[in-house]
Formats: sequence, C-alpha cells, structure tokens
Amino acid sequence: MAKKKMAKKNRSVNAGKSRKLVSLQADQNIWPLERDVLFRPDRFKYVRKVIQPQGCVFCAASGAEPSVESLCFYQTKNSMMMLNKFPYNSGHILILPRRHVGDLTLLSDEEYFDLQSLVRTGFHLLEHVYQPGGLNFGLNHGAVAGAGIPDHLHYHLIPRWSGDLNFFPLIAETKAVIESLDQSFEKLKIGMKKLRQS
Ligand SMILES: [Zn+2]
Repeated sequence: MAKKKMAKKNRSVNAGKSRKLVSLQADQNIWPLERDVLFRPDRFKYVRKVIQPQGCVFCAASGAEPSVESLCFYQTKNSMMMLNKFPYNSGHILILPRRHVGDLTLLSDEEYFDLQSLVRTGFHLLEHVYQPGGLNFGLNHGAVAGAGIPDHLHYHLIPRWSGDLNFFPLIAETKAVIESLDQSFEKLKIGMKKLRQS
C-alpha cells in the first residue's frame, strides 16, 4: 500500500514537471533581459593556436599569386603587403620581405630599402582607402618581443579612429572588426591600383 502511494506521488510530481515544461515552451517571453549578441561560430576556425598552419604562411603567400585566399594583395620583387588574418582593426595590414628571414639586420640593402619604400606606400594606401584619424605602426622583433611568426619579419600597420576601442580586447583578447577580410582585400587591391596610377 505504501509502495502504491509512493508511486502515485511520483507520478503526480512528474506530471507537475511536464506541465511546467509545456507552459515554459509555450511562453514566448521567458527571457527577462534583452541584449545584443554577436554570434560568429564561423570564427572558431581562426582561434589562435588551435589550428597550427603547416610551414610559413608568409612564404606560402609570397610563392602564390596575390589573392584573397593568400591575403596578399601586392608584391614587389623583394617585399609584399597582405592583410592580417587576425586584424585589430579594419585595414590592418602587414608589410614584409618576401624572403623568410626573422632578423632585420640580415636583409640585404636591396631588400631593406625595398621594404622601407613599401612601408611608406602602405601609409599612403591606408590614408587613401580608409582616411583614418591615425595609424599604429610597428615591428615585434623576435618571439620574446611578441612576434606571432618570429622567423619571418613583418611590420604591422593599423588604421585608427577616435573611439574605435571597445571592451572586448580588455576582457577576452577579442576585437570586433566591422569589415570582413574579403571586403578589406577588395578595397586595398583597388586602392593600390589607383595609387600606382596616380
Ligand atoms: Zn617565411
């Protein structure tokens, strides 16, 4: 008899639970707060260090035709410009020698002057395409200095606008960038073409 009572009670509790679940599912306004959420599951494949590329990505880009796949949009004999795959801001580009070298002092004069000339061109290009309020420019020389790919030199050139920082970089090492890499690539490729014609 006691067992029967217990079984009846359990059925009653379970029935109550399922009634509650049904009522929650039927209710379309169960969230007490609304907020903006940026869902970007496609970005997962770019999570740093989860997928290690084979070989040097810069050398691979140098050996290929400029394309959105390689992210390289301009090459000279010794140097090239490409998009940073992990941009800190729209228009974040890298300017680098085509040869696989991680020490600036090992560049020949020809390579060095070509690289510096392309740096200046990069400034012209970003001013022309993005009209930023300012630019960050720098080189992390060696792994301890913060170079992500220390064996292949690369200058960073980043457009900046007043108020372009948000809290993401502070809490999650993530930066919201308003332009896709494809969009940046097209803009810079066209910008470079116009710059060379002027
Ligand atoms: Zn390389």
